[in-house]
Amino acid sequence: MENAATAPAGLNFEPSTEINIIKKELDNFIDQEVKPLEQKYDQYLGEDGMYNRADENGKMTPEFQEIRNTIRKKSAEAGYLSMSMPEDLGGGGMGDLAYSIVFEHLHNRNPDGFHRMMMPGDSEGMGGPVAPQPDNLTDYQKEKWVKPSIDGELTNGMGLTEPDHGSDPTWMDSTAEKDGDEWVINGTKCFSTMAPIADFWVIHARTSGEDGDVRGISSFFVDRDNLGIEVGKYQRYMGDPLSHQAFVHLDDCRVPKENMIGEEGRGLLDQLKNFGGARVYIAAHCVGRSQWMFDQCVEYAESRKTFGEPIGTNQFVQGMLADLRADIEQTRWLYRHAAWQADNGEVPRWEISAAKLRGAQLWNKAADVAIQVHGGTGVMSSLPFEREYREARMSRIVEGTDEIQKRTIAREFLDLD
Ligand SMILES: Cc1cc2nc3c(=O)[nH]c(=O)nc-3n(C[C@H](O)[C@H](O)[C@H](O)COP(=O)(O)OP(=O)(O)OC[C@H]3O[C@@H](n4cnc5c(N)ncnc54)[C@H](O)[C@@H]3O)c2cc1C
Repeated sequence: MENAATAPAGLNFEPSTEINIIKKELDNFIDQEVKPLEQKYDQYLGEDGMYNRADENGKMTPEFQEIRNTIRKKSAEAGYLSMSMPEDLGGGGMGDLAYSIVFEHLHNRNPDGFHRMMMPGDSEGMGGPVAPQPDNLTDYQKEKWVKPSIDGELTNGMGLTEPDHGSDPTWMDSTAEKDGDEWVINGTKCFSTMAPIADFWVIHARTSGEDGDVRGISSFFVDRDNLGIEVGKYQRYMGDPLSHQAFVHLDDCRVPKENMIGEEGRGLLDQLKNFGGARVYIAAHCVGRSQWMFDQCVEYAESRKTFGEPIGTNQFVQGMLADLRADIEQTRWLYRHAAWQADNGEVPRWEISAAKLRGAQLWNKAADVAIQVHGGTGVMSSLPFEREYREARMSRIVEGTDEIQKRTIAREFLDLD
């Protein structure tokens, strides 16, 4: 049997000294730059916080957008906003393993806080500007859309899902047809995150091929002020008063050929490579959120007494916490292993799906356990657990449902053709 000294270095997914320094610096940044804003604008925190962030239509208020912009710009200056983006684009060029460990750490704190706006992922689609690979971008595109996003100056949406096609985006109905030096896009997108306040979108539309072909779907930058694009009805989820999603209608939307990302017909194909990374980050995010709730539960189990004893002395309570502790650790190693594989040039499709599947299930379970351990207080909105319970649910849908992750996993071992 190998001992620790001879085990291959690649099997150690613990944070390196460098990552631990980044985590410490991130904590300092939050203490110095984010917490003072939380103290100044505490009307946006706690049980009424989300209500105060939205206007009567569910759109983020200009006042809260201002706070968001401030945090994003400071985070960009300090190098956090774009840590995972390629260096050629002005990002930090961090690998998947390092980034996801830092991302887990970011989310291992009270979820009501403003820290969530520091890095992409808070209801704006993991992966920030759904970063196209630098090789697929022209200098013009880098300067006009990507760099300002990395600097925290622009917010983007992504339009892939349609009312009739979600899990099956290669069956999309949106089309783009060439007309001289322009492309004319038609179609409707839904659930487009950040659409109510987006400055531009990455829109996917079919330019050739048949239903089911991933080839033939192209991607375009579309500005908000384009007369052919219109943000439709806002969409709210699970009791959140803030609408992060909306329908987006494209009606003879004309964009110059310079707006096409990468090669014609390869837009979605190239983009799918990024969705893998996004799924790893979602899993890391879920672990961070779950770890924070677990720690709150432990504290409560030690201090809350019933029948004259701390509730943690009961085996039923211990059992809930022990199970959750094991699940957190299991998911942590699933996502770290998948991230490490990706960093080492592998394409760990099923491992990424397994991490995302378990991550989403973990976050839901952790919120449920947190409520149960805290009893009546757990369901009251004075604590964040009921908000976690609601918010966690969407993680089993977004970036591929549980069933789509299972489909990817099953395809790894079933050879039925
Ligand atoms: C909060 C949130 C944010 C989002 N942000 C964006 C965004 O910014 N941009 C964007 O383009 N989209 C976004 N989406 C859309 C998201 O990607 C889709 O909702 C998701 O892919 C599922 O598609 P659907 O909702 O159409 O469900 P459907 O595809 O209709 O699925 C319905 C049910 O059928 C199951 N199912 C479908 N096909 C299969 C199959 N082959 N095998 C087994 N089960 C199957 C699904 O698992 C699900 O249970 C967002 C969604 C949410 C909830």
